[in-house]
Amino acid sequence: MVTVNAAKILINEYASHSNVSDIYINDANGHILAEDLYAIIDTPPFDSSAMDGYAIIYNDEYYKKNWTVIGEVQAGASVNSALQTNEAFRIFTGAKIPAVANTVVVQEKVNRQGNIFTIEKHILEKGSNVRPQGSQLKKGELILTKNSKLNAACISLLANIGISKVKVYSKPKISIIVTGKELIQPGTPLPDGMIYESNSFALKAALNELQIQPSTITITDDIKEDIIEAIQSNLMQDIVILTGGVSVGDYDFVAASLEQCGVKEIFHKVKQKPGKPFYFGIKNKTLIFGLPGNPAAVLTCFYEYIVPAIETYTKHIYYKTDNLPLINSYTKKTGLTHFVKAKTDGKTVEILNSQESYLLNSFAYANCIVELPEEEEIFEEGNIVKLKMIAHI
Ligand code: AMP
Ligand code: MG
Repeated sequence: MVTVNAAKILINEYASHSNVSDIYINDANGHILAEDLYAIIDTPPFDSSAMDGYAIIYNDEYYKKNWTVIGEVQAGASVNSALQTNEAFRIFTGAKIPAVANTVVVQEKVNRQGNIFTIEKHILEKGSNVRPQGSQLKKGELILTKNSKLNAACISLLANIGISKVKVYSKPKISIIVTGKELIQPGTPLPDGMIYESNSFALKAALNELQIQPSTITITDDIKEDIIEAIQSNLMQDIVILTGGVSVGDYDFVAASLEQCGVKEIFHKVKQKPGKPFYFGIKNKTLIFGLPGNPAAVLTCFYEYIVPAIETYTKHIYYKTDNLPLINSYTKKTGLTHFVKAKTDGKTVEILNSQESYLLNSFAYANCIVELPEEEEIFEEGNIVKLKMIAHI
């Protein structure tokens, strides 16, 4: 049996082989950039109008003149004819400023009769209402640095500059195999002796929180041949997560099945509660996690071990950790690290009732997991404990 810390170190040793892939910006939200990105054009790509109005060549005595409208530029159009002194182009927001013009008068500030207008005094400077070419970014300028997390604004900026694909750290390909003879899908009547299967739903939802879709979800009976077949057909994945049957009961075939598939056991059993039977092995580059079937153990092992493994691929840090004072006391036996469901307001933390590994109700209410060290027994109000945030406050 290994300690929690040893288990985490071992997983981290085997998990670090991140890949880089080119993806379309439409699929890039939430990814971490694996390259520095530079502007491939100036933006705006030309001097453009910030307002609906009239493009003119600025003159200090603009308010004393009569201006003649000689044409129109719509957004998207490109006009080649140049202006003369005291001439104007009708222009609209986003349209390219015609040659020689350097200033835009907003339409509300002119008095127009037919094709002639005058301009109010004190409203204009040279360059007013013009967005200069390259004023956001010049071609070749650094836009976003490697390891930036892409969000909606970043993706908007990339599209704006004409970049359609980016290099990001790839998400790992992950399969889920749920084992257990007693399992039946929710939504169907419950036969005597059976229970509703919840682990595949828990893991899929937990992966979705990381914006990862599992490649496959297989549900098998506690039959060794079926488990072996499910493992073999998923060994090309980066990560395989199994639940159930990982302990030492007569029908717990997962560890033996993994061995038969050539998976090398790195550890089996961790000094923790819940999730003591937790298994970790590797085959080639595939990481295999065998989680006990108890639903709370599944989610605990997911947040404590599988998320950090995924982080080595995606370069994300998904869940923050913190150290906060307890507002209630808690007692446990020594010998195992306990991961307990808790609720924090960001200043203090309360350990919840119902910590048994088959109970999900406290998990559903919790927003963090508190780690209580192996050799400690009594935790008093005010003691500082380490926690991992798993949901919003
Ligand atoms: P096991 O690890 O197979 O000994 O299962 C431990 C406990 O978890 C048993 O009470 C199982 O019935 C339950 N369990 C196993 N798999 C699931 C599952 N997919 N969904 C809900 N409960 C499960
Ligand atoms: Mg079982």
